Amino acid sequence: MPDMIDIAIVGAGTAGLTAAIYAVRAGKSVKIYDGKSYGGQIINTPDIENYPGIKHISGFEFATGLYEQATALGAELEFSAVERIEKNGENDFTLKTTDGEVKAKAVILATGAENRKLGIDREEELIGSGISYCATCDGAFYKGKAVAVSGGGNTAIEDAMFLTNYCSKVYVIHRRDAFRADAKDVEKLKEKPNVEFVLNANVTALKGDKKLEAVEVTDKNTGEKKDLEVAGLFVAIGQAPVAGIFKNLVEVNEQGYIVAGEDCKTNVSGVYAAGDCRTKTVRQLTTAAADGAIAALAACSKL
Ligand code: NAP
Repeated sequence: MPDMIDIAIVGAGTAGLTAAIYAVRAGKSVKIYDGKSYGGQIINTPDIENYPGIKHISGFEFATGLYEQATALGAELEFSAVERIEKNGENDFTLKTTDGEVKAKAVILATGAENRKLGIDREEELIGSGISYCATCDGAFYKGKAVAVSGGGNTAIEDAMFLTNYCSKVYVIHRRDAFRADAKDVEKLKEKPNVEFVLNANVTALKGDKKLEAVEVTDKNTGEKKDLEVAGLFVAIGQAPVAGIFKNLVEVNEQGYIVAGEDCKTNVSGVYAAGDCRTKTVRQLTTAAADGAIAALAACSKL
């Protein structure tokens, strides 16, 4: 029979690590589980300029600082993925992970979200051979080449800006002519000489033999198709929640987000959802951190 810990946190992103900081400081035993790494999505953001009190920091520095803070305080991080969680009774959960089983009195789900796919032919096949979901990770591989970014949100505009530093040409392909991204950043990007906006258009085909050589774009209004010769396509069309595996445990909505309000409580007593994986309107670093604190304090108050 595995030992019982106070709080198991699933996901080592901003919400999960913040929850860990609050829970260990409240004297609880805490383990965080993450099958990938620490840091979550923010680790790939080049520049953070909207976290209160910090004028400027890279996502990597931010995530590393958070990880070091949580573990120095006594939280343990296990690099194993949680595959299933069962509720045995009040304050009694079993988590099945890729490395075994653990028992916990309360569970905080902080699994975040992952990159949405375009859902077109050959997208999966060409990942790593022209298709990427992370400009900061893969941008340097396209030095001196023409690339495209798909999307019109902050990530797409940030990615395009980053890629202008390496690439000969950056196409920004967006399905509308208005952007979700901050207007200030769109204006800054427009000033770059090697950027071309392809608006009201969708990527409809990926061309090339073993590697991407061109993307076909289709104008939404006219139906006209054209090929853009690019070595890379950076897909930045938002995220989808990573919460499907918890459907057996808690209520999730149609889009797959765990249903929980600002108090981070799910429909199951003892299970909390924090950060991008829960139903909410604003998914930002600040709100992920806030959720982590709220979920941890709520969990602690019941133990
Ligand atoms: P997002 O804001 O949801 O934007 C997604 C973009 O992709 C939208 O322009 C959307 O078009 C487009 N899109 C969605 N599905 C598509 C599809 N199937 N085909 C083609 N285009 C599609 O996502 P995000 O840019 O990843 O940002 C997520 C959150 O993180 C946002 O709240 C954002 O503000 C935040 N963020 C903040 C920063 C920062 O502050 N530094 C940096 C990055 C992200 P429509 O506009 O037509 O829907």
